[in-house]
Amino acid sequence: MKIAIVGSGMIGLCSAYYLNKQGYEVTIIDEGDGTDNCSFGNAGFFSPSHMVPLASPGIIAQGLKWMINPESPFYIKPSLDINLAKWSWQFFRASTKKRVGQAVPILNQMLMESRSLIEEILADTKIDSGFDDKGLLMYCKSQHVLDEEADMAELGRKCGQDVDVLSSAQAEKINPGFEIDTVGAVHFKNDAWFTPNSFMNGFQKYLKDQGVEFQFNTKVLSAEKHHRHLKALVTEKGKIEADQFVIATGSWTAKFLRQLGVKILIQGGKGYSFEVTNPPVMPKTASILTEARVAVTPMQHGLRFAGTMEVNGLDLSINPRRVLGIQKSIPNYFPQINQESFKDIKPWAGLRPCSPDGMPYIGKTKKFDNLIVATGHAMLGISLGPITGQLVCEIAGENKPHIDDTLLAVERYS
Ligand SMILES: Cc1cc2nc3c(=O)[nH]c(=O)nc-3n(C[C@H](O)[C@H](O)[C@H](O)COP(=O)(O)OP(=O)(O)OC[C@H]3O[C@@H](n4cnc5c(N)ncnc54)[C@H](O)[C@@H]3O)c2cc1C
Repeated sequence: MKIAIVGSGMIGLCSAYYLNKQGYEVTIIDEGDGTDNCSFGNAGFFSPSHMVPLASPGIIAQGLKWMINPESPFYIKPSLDINLAKWSWQFFRASTKKRVGQAVPILNQMLMESRSLIEEILADTKIDSGFDDKGLLMYCKSQHVLDEEADMAELGRKCGQDVDVLSSAQAEKINPGFEIDTVGAVHFKNDAWFTPNSFMNGFQKYLKDQGVEFQFNTKVLSAEKHHRHLKALVTEKGKIEADQFVIATGSWTAKFLRQLGVKILIQGGKGYSFEVTNPPVMPKTASILTEARVAVTPMQHGLRFAGTMEVNGLDLSINPRRVLGIQKSIPNYFPQINQESFKDIKPWAGLRPCSPDGMPYIGKTKKFDNLIVATGHAMLGISLGPITGQLVCEIAGENKPHIDDTLLAVERYS
């Protein structure tokens, strides 16, 4: 049976991995050349620690304060775009205790399972990705924020995670010689990280060796259909026929599906990263500068900093003020790193595919019997890649997904 996957990001590749193992004939089509998309320049975390979606109580008040600061980590660009208006309204509606209470157990289950699956994938594929499982430190500058993170630690423990709340001295012992200026940290020990660029390149090569076909530099324009059945993708370079189709086109998915009459809400959540190749000191553990919302990852080729969430459609341009906002925040936590460390950086931007409620869209559409959508993972697309691939494979095989997929329904906003 033939399956065509549109999109060669983390979600497309993980779907291909499980489908190929089940014996499907898989083709991946991407308009890019397979060397860069959101799945490359990210922070590389597998983070069960992030079991609470971004849309949560408190984010609206905090977000309004951030909106007026050009260097702030979160921003929704005011616009007359109707899709952004609908998205923002649903984001607001999802930011309640009740909705978050429904989302957390499902997200936690998906994150924890995915965390195990990535280790299986790495053992199977033998990709050298710099995977490390020392956990994630949430560094806090203020006692108030450390107390909030301690509440998150408690929630994590209730969800079955291993979490410690540390004083500054205890946190310093985890990275001897690496100075920190904080009141303490929360250590989420189930978290892990890798170097996404190495993984994505290695995964592509592995899949090619297993017989998965890649068609790069090929934009999918539309699809041919017959009643409720899709017959072929129409690309710039001709038609691609298949029995089933997986749409894993990240932030571009809403635009693509609209022409097929399938309505979903997605906004690109732009984030930036840059790497310091020779930092004055290299921490041994990945971390987040909590108040600044900056992720810090020791990767194979340097120390990567990533941050900001600018909700603004599909614009990938780099705003230097926000990159500067990231740079300025770092020495406040890590005094050994100064502005001189950033002189040769090359900022990268990527679009996180954000659903309003922070839950991915995974499943078939009501409109077609052979169209599977897998997107909307926002800031968790790496963490949730393996479990998403597994779910896509279950759905393609007409099996009931082993995870309760009610909150993942593709057309929940249509
Ligand atoms: C700064 C930053 C830090 C992040 N850190 C983390 C992290 O630490 N952990 C984590 O879990 N997540 C993180 N994320 C989020 C994560 O990177 C994304 O959720 C994930 O990469 C999304 O993967 P994807 O496969 O859905 O989309 P993408 O990687 O964007 O891939 C989609 C692909 O679809 C292709 N495409 C689109 N339309 C078409 C078309 N019409 N025809 C053909 N091809 C098409 C595109 O070319 C693209 O290659 C971060 C994101 C950012 C920006």
